[in-house]
Amino acid sequence: MTYQILSKFNYYYKVFILVNVIIYYLYVPCTISDSNIKQALEEPSTTIQVSISIDKIPKVNESTILQFDIVSIYYAEDTKVQIDLPSDAVVINGDITWKGNLLANQAHKMSLEILFETEGKKKITCTATKIFDESNSWGDLKSLFLTVGSQFSQLGYPSMIQDKSELLAEAEIIGEGETIDSKESYPASIQNSPESLEITTEPSNPLIKQRKISNEKPLRSDDGSLTIEGRWQFYGRNSSLESEQMKVYIVRGDNNKILSICYTDENGYYSCGPFGNPGSAGVRSVFVTSVTYSLNRDTLRVINLDTKNVFAYTTPSVKFQDGTRNIGSYFIGKDKENVRAYWLQKDLIKVWKFIYHNAGKYQNPKVSAGSCTIRWKADSEDGNYYNLGGDIYLEADAPLSNTVVGHEYGHRIMYGVYGNCFPNDNCPSPHYIGLASNTTCAWTEGWANFLPLAVNNDPVYRWEKSSRNLETTYHEGWENGDAVEGRIAASLWDIYDQENDNLDKYSDQTFRKIWDVLYSQNDNTFKEYWTARKERGHNVDDAINCLLENTIDYRDNGNDDDFGNTCYGSYQLLNNQALTGNIDKGDSDYFKFNIYRSSYVDLHTTGTTDTYGILFSCCDGSPPSTSCEVIRSDDEGTGRNFRINEYLYSGTYYLKIRHYNRYTGSGKYILKFSSSN
Ligand SMILES: [Zn+2]
Repeated sequence: MTYQILSKFNYYYKVFILVNVIIYYLYVPCTISDSNIKQALEEPSTTIQVSISIDKIPKVNESTILQFDIVSIYYAEDTKVQIDLPSDAVVINGDITWKGNLLANQAHKMSLEILFETEGKKKITCTATKIFDESNSWGDLKSLFLTVGSQFSQLGYPSMIQDKSELLAEAEIIGEGETIDSKESYPASIQNSPESLEITTEPSNPLIKQRKISNEKPLRSDDGSLTIEGRWQFYGRNSSLESEQMKVYIVRGDNNKILSICYTDENGYYSCGPFGNPGSAGVRSVFVTSVTYSLNRDTLRVINLDTKNVFAYTTPSVKFQDGTRNIGSYFIGKDKENVRAYWLQKDLIKVWKFIYHNAGKYQNPKVSAGSCTIRWKADSEDGNYYNLGGDIYLEADAPLSNTVVGHEYGHRIMYGVYGNCFPNDNCPSPHYIGLASNTTCAWTEGWANFLPLAVNNDPVYRWEKSSRNLETTYHEGWENGDAVEGRIAASLWDIYDQENDNLDKYSDQTFRKIWDVLYSQNDNTFKEYWTARKERGHNVDDAINCLLENTIDYRDNGNDDDFGNTCYGSYQLLNNQALTGNIDKGDSDYFKFNIYRSSYVDLHTTGTTDTYGILFSCCDGSPPSTSCEVIRSDDEGTGRNFRINEYLYSGTYYLKIRHYNRYTGSGKYILKFSSSN
């Protein structure tokens, strides 16, 4: 593949970029210069979309009209809509809930006249959901943000610089020392420091270190030095206290000058110092959304979309005697507006560690997922995407999904391991997990959909208010084949997972093989990836069934007899499926499909082969008896192709395809199947 040779060449060539700038640009097929980056790699859209508009931005006690539009790309029975308002909002007119059937592509409109009785930040959220089962649903959540005053109101929240009110953490356990200032002090202009976290060769021991706060520390001194110990945690998605390895600054209580930098362990415990004790000026411990690993100096961080500073919460300022002292255990409460930045930071770390511990550390030299920055804020309505070659952007409610970070970081990782290149995927906007886009878009998005499933060890892809279980093969409304991103993600999942289901009886038992192919190749499509997997010596003979399970058929149709020769060995067709078959001399190919409601069914082939089709309503022998026969077709399609277009009652049907010349004819065909009622 020329593409790949050039891009790998380019990768090494960059070392000489300064002396070879002109030649560099001549040889670059896909490197993007930083100033021109515009390509946004989005998350797949959900099939139900909510939008909110507002008539005018109201002051206190002034009424306004909100308009909510709920659109589904499919007919969605029993959809529920819920509008959540701030506690001081008064509804003058309209309903905050609705339940009914959404017609395909026709907006359901709701309007609501409200007023706010008090000043402050206001968040209005509209949620629409159609639930199939515990792990499968369609839905969307959108929020509108306002700052309401008595003289002046605005869209969005005031910027973080003017707003310090959220930044003091809560104490779980008060430490030693004398509190001298318990007001928030941020933001300080904390820069990213060069300190980095050494990576242990194995994931650290999960046993929680039960350090006690005690006044009996053996390390006491009066030499003017201070070491601060403590613990940092935050409320996670599941409303329980969590932590991860994140950075802690110890700063002077009076001027925020950094005195020491350290990392917490995975349970939030840290020890920072020794450093010069500032005495009566006091110290604060500051917990920030950043980590730098010693490997490649990779930095993972979540920064405020406006200020570009990392998020920070602080303890009060406390005065200590010299020695090793405990400042206490602090946490970020569940109602704190910026607590979600810490969820995102933890998600980033999970992906980085997953790649390193499951693949990267076995490579020589060791390989990482690379640096990654998320730009977010509590009132962002900017969308969810990775800006190719740059940062990830996430909107206010995106952290409710535990897969969105893995998806966007997955794009960032592909860009990195492809040598700062990315396939020209022409993804439509929006693109959908279950609908065909094109084979390149489906590959880049399919990989990004799969990665968070592997990281979470859970086949459920989640949006803010909806989800898809990719272990399920049948999805209402999904299309089939390798132009569908969800089919590729599900195939990779079935290769990776240890569960057997239907055709999927294979598992790689490790992430390393999937990663090896991704890392070593710059494939543009899943088909190319599959060929590369074979070339790199990884199992394809059994693993191919994981693809078949997900409607992707890469079986070699050469001269092999590809489909069963009896109705007992029929190949299961799914709605809207198109697949390639081959008739050998004297060969018959059998297919079956299910009709759940009386429907018009269309079955036909295309191509130059003179095909002949027979439809049966039962399989009582081979061939089935004539009493099972529904209809047969010779040349009703284009050219010499058969075509069957029938209204059928619910049930299981069988299709036999053979050559018109049943003894000597042979050739390829493309079979298409669809049903609609
Ligand atoms: Zn994407």
